[in-house]
Amino acid sequence: MKRRPAEDLAPAAAVAADGLARFDVVDAWVFDLDDTLYPTSAGLGPQIDMRITQWVADYLGVDGLSARALQKHWYATHGTTLAGLVESHAIDPTDFLEFAHSIDRDGLAPDPALAAAISALPGRRMILTNGSRAHAFETARRLGLDGLFEDAYDIVALGCTPKHRPEGFARFVAASGVVPARAALFDDLPRNLATARAAGMATALVTAPGAAATEGESFDAVTSDLADLVSRIARRRSARKSAA
Ligand SMILES: [Mg+2]
Repeated sequence: MKRRPAEDLAPAAAVAADGLARFDVVDAWVFDLDDTLYPTSAGLGPQIDMRITQWVADYLGVDGLSARALQKHWYATHGTTLAGLVESHAIDPTDFLEFAHSIDRDGLAPDPALAAAISALPGRRMILTNGSRAHAFETARRLGLDGLFEDAYDIVALGCTPKHRPEGFARFVAASGVVPARAALFDDLPRNLATARAAGMATALVTAPGAAATEGESFDAVTSDLADLVSRIARRRSARKSAA
């Protein structure tokens, strides 16, 4: 698959006006957590990754390199290490998730622009994460986004099946009661958006500034500035309501 720098997408064209129209019917706003509500540069991902390696090494009594190899294998075959562990070793996810998310969140700063943008969205607002609910709430609190989401649907709520897998996504729909045709997903992983899009959701890809964008994937919006995109969607909705 050919890749090209995100800068090749003209900033204005990255969210075409026509793309935003897709969000006009949305009444449920679903946000991924990691690397979506905060930037990758906050440094949480590598910490979680290392904690998972350590948990696998301790649980199976293997060295770090072997644990790392298993972690990568399960990520490739099951979508997450946890899904692989549950299937191969029938573990209880509670201890794993607590350990994986016992991280230093000092790299996170309050994001008042994002808080204002999200709070202006009309309808239900929620988090959907392959991490834990506790991680979602603590991270949202550190970002100054607490109180903006009615709930966080986590990997346990999805039956330990990652959200990009249709059965995991279906569990989210059943648990939340959202109607995909009237819902939107903001996420940094194209595979998560592809599943949501196939179910009828409006989709927005959140990239790191200057990150490579994948060609051939089709989303309603692509942005490296989530607060900007969300505020433009909210303003458009507000203007249409006033005009109606
Ligand atoms: Mg993510």
